[in-house]
Amino acid sequence: MTDGFETLAIHAGQEADPHTGAVVPPIYAVSTYKQDGVGGLRAGYEYSRSANPTRTALEECLAALEGGTRGLAFASGLAAEDAVLRAVCGPGDHVIIPGDAYGGTYRLFAKVLARWGLLFDPVPLGDLDAVRAAVRPETKVIWVETPTNPLLGVADIEALAAVAHQAGALLVVDNTFASPYLQQPLALGADVVVHSTTKYVGGHSDVVGGALVARDRELGELLAFHQNAMGAVAGPFDAWLTLRGIKTLALRMERHCDNAERVVELLRSHPRVTEVLYPGLPGHPGHEVAAKQMRRFGGMVSFRVAGGEEEAVRLCDRTRIFTLGESLGGVESLIEHPGRMTHASVAGSALEVPADLVRLSVGIETVDDLLADLSQALGS
Ligand SMILES: *Cc1c(COP(=O)(O)O)cnc(C)c1O
Repeated sequence: MTDGFETLAIHAGQEADPHTGAVVPPIYAVSTYKQDGVGGLRAGYEYSRSANPTRTALEECLAALEGGTRGLAFASGLAAEDAVLRAVCGPGDHVIIPGDAYGGTYRLFAKVLARWGLLFDPVPLGDLDAVRAAVRPETKVIWVETPTNPLLGVADIEALAAVAHQAGALLVVDNTFASPYLQQPLALGADVVVHSTTKYVGGHSDVVGGALVARDRELGELLAFHQNAMGAVAGPFDAWLTLRGIKTLALRMERHCDNAERVVELLRSHPRVTEVLYPGLPGHPGHEVAAKQMRRFGGMVSFRVAGGEEEAVRLCDRTRIFTLGESLGGVESLIEHPGRMTHASVAGSALEVPADLVRLSVGIETVDDLLADLSQALGS
């Protein structure tokens, strides 16, 4: 029998320290390791870019939570994205990306990897025919985000895996918004999962990090080679904080979802809100797919306000508990204006977002306080 998610979150990769019995893996603040004779490594460790025991603990835990064979921890989510793309693609290769990809992901393709000859096309992933039509002989990766940021679009992971594999391409899923607790892309056929562990996985807004988890052992080896060769690894302090956050991931996600559902209820009945974007709503175009592939619908809620951009910006200035800031997935509630903040870099591109859009990362504070805060900020 395999252990449950909460058990893995607390124990996978985290055996008690063999020397002291410490129940939490220590922070191995060390760069190199004493060898017993040339090549005589004591536990496989030789240099901390290649491997560090605190990072190993995190990597094993992430692999267990996503159901993969290999987990790799990076200095940021974008470092993880860069590593997988450069590991599996070369000049002239082609990638299909979501029509509303995370702004930083779009920028990585458009401003960095394009200069090295990587071709890409933003495609609405909810439209499988459009995805099939965009596949070329050079397509190496279909890059999926679901739900997407900030429009909360939903893509069918299982169906897209079939399209990718038929084309001889890999399916890579950015699982940042759902977290492994709500969604398990590898079990649905994805080849690699990407995380910005900065968000729900770390969960406390105190560390930046990224991760890759591979389903297949050989691909895991290739990614591990690139992690070491490119060098953007997670440091031991960051790995430790992330691992500490993971222990409560299941509890936090349940509360994020509880609170988000109540927030959605309030917004839906508010006269100054013109549209609420949340995959849990039966009217959401991705609702059925989300219900099939997610345990619950997450803590991210976007909505549009009457009065356009000015009113959306004013609303962001008026909340008291919802803190105005970028990022998401922490215990504290955040509010932001994607058009001018997280998605300013995609203004004027195909990925531009509506100017009257507001995005919430619903935290785990007392829900009545969150509702009262939004009510006062919206005005009645
Ligand atoms: C934040 C984020 C990233 C980038 O991660 P960093 O840790 O900021 O580098 C990638 N994808 C999604 C969906 C994100 O929200």
